[in-house]
Amino acid sequence: MRRSKDELNKMRKAGKVVAEMHEATRNAIRPGVTTMKLNEIAAEVIAKRGARSNFLNYHGFPAVICTSPNDMIVHGIPGPYVLREGDIISIDCGAIVEGYHGDAAYTAGVGAISDLAKKLIEVTERSMWAGIEQLKIGNRLHEVGRAVQHVAEDAGFSVVRDYVGHAIGTEMHESPQVPNYWPGTPGPTLKEGMVFAIEPMVNVGGFDTYELDDGWGIMTQDGTLSAHFEHTIAVTDNGPEVFTVL
Ligand code: MG
Ligand code: MG
Repeated sequence: MRRSKDELNKMRKAGKVVAEMHEATRNAIRPGVTTMKLNEIAAEVIAKRGARSNFLNYHGFPAVICTSPNDMIVHGIPGPYVLREGDIISIDCGAIVEGYHGDAAYTAGVGAISDLAKKLIEVTERSMWAGIEQLKIGNRLHEVGRAVQHVAEDAGFSVVRDYVGHAIGTEMHESPQVPNYWPGTPGPTLKEGMVFAIEPMVNVGGFDTYELDDGWGIMTQDGTLSAHFEHTIAVTDNGPEVFTVL
């Protein structure tokens, strides 16, 4: 779907709130902090900006952010888990402003982390930017996944297949989906005003996943580390415009 200038303005505002949630949670990440505390910090940003949460109560999700440590890929429920030196933690945040959604995620290290964890975080973020660069008028959507996959696999990592990016607007998850790998077809042609959440999930080992008994947390099947980066981006006459930045 193509969004009007007025709609894009509202999405810009939602994106700024999400970026503020990133900044506030990132500043609080250290050994000894619980994932529930990070959720409280993010909720304060939403309240302060007069925004609404798109995560809270989404299919019954009980928090405003997802917190996914180490071999958890996505969708972790914030709770009593205490961050430890050497952990990596993926934080996914979202907000609604004037009916329009923003959605973005990052992975950070807790204190000193291993060289492998550093490489995973660096490669996953770089794969996201390679995907974002493909969001140009006239390009085909699945070039995003091709670019993401190239960066991740070149580094010896794998790209998760079971969870993907998405269009976004008046709903958080709109059609079409955006695979982070080449799915065998080029996909829709990109037009001015389309908005997508590009969100590679990259694993050190294989791409297979399983779901925790809580019905939310998604884990790597082989127990290896996973990282996740995401931004909300519009296709514009001037190239991709990232909304989820300060
Ligand atoms: Mg997200
Ligand atoms: Mg998303």
